[in-house]
Amino acid sequence: MKTVLLATNNPHKVDEVRAIVSDLGITVLTPAELGVKLEVEETESTLAGNALLKAEAAMRMSGLPALADDTGLFVAALDGAPGILSARYAGPEASAEANMRKLLSALEGHSRRQAYFATVMAYVTPETIWLGKGILRGEIVPAPRGVHGFGYDPVFQPEGYAQTLAELVPEVKNRISHRRRALDKWAAYVRHSLGDGKV
Ligand code: IMP
Repeated sequence: MKTVLLATNNPHKVDEVRAIVSDLGITVLTPAELGVKLEVEETESTLAGNALLKAEAAMRMSGLPALADDTGLFVAALDGAPGILSARYAGPEASAEANMRKLLSALEGHSRRQAYFATVMAYVTPETIWLGKGILRGEIVPAPRGVHGFGYDPVFQPEGYAQTLAELVPEVKNRISHRRRALDKWAAYVRHSLGDGKV
């Protein structure tokens, strides 16, 4: 049984990742479970750069192979904003509600509502670096709807659905999400590497 440290302090991400990789036979630990606090400043200018920063910090701290994600919401009418600044869109410690409010007011009067979520997962071991990306396309609705999920989920309606991500039950979000798509690629990589005994 392999153990991987998931480099996040976000319990929602932990639940999602565990649900998605549950059949891999890998134990996913968190910094909290190791009794450590992971504080990484996201100083890079890309999702990949920031995901790698977090994964490398987690591996340095624990000696374990580490997995990290960095996610952004890219809105067409706003030239890709909030993008990599999604967590800090309404200010350094902004709440999800404040970020959504700012987004909805920036889009007021816009009929072009297309957006996508992108997640980059970074996985590092002492010998390897792996990066993978997942995208979910959809649109920004005029007002928040739903109670599930986290972050921008209440204002994002995926293509082909009449509900926002926050109106969909977690099982459905976890089947279609940007994070799921990136994790599926990681799972394929891990299965292949486990076959080679290399993870
Ligand atoms: P980070 O990947 O934790 O840096 O997240 C960047 C921003 O996107 C934060 O405001 C998160 O709340 C938000 N976010 C990340 N993943 C999701 C998601 O699956 N749904 C909605 N918002 C998300």
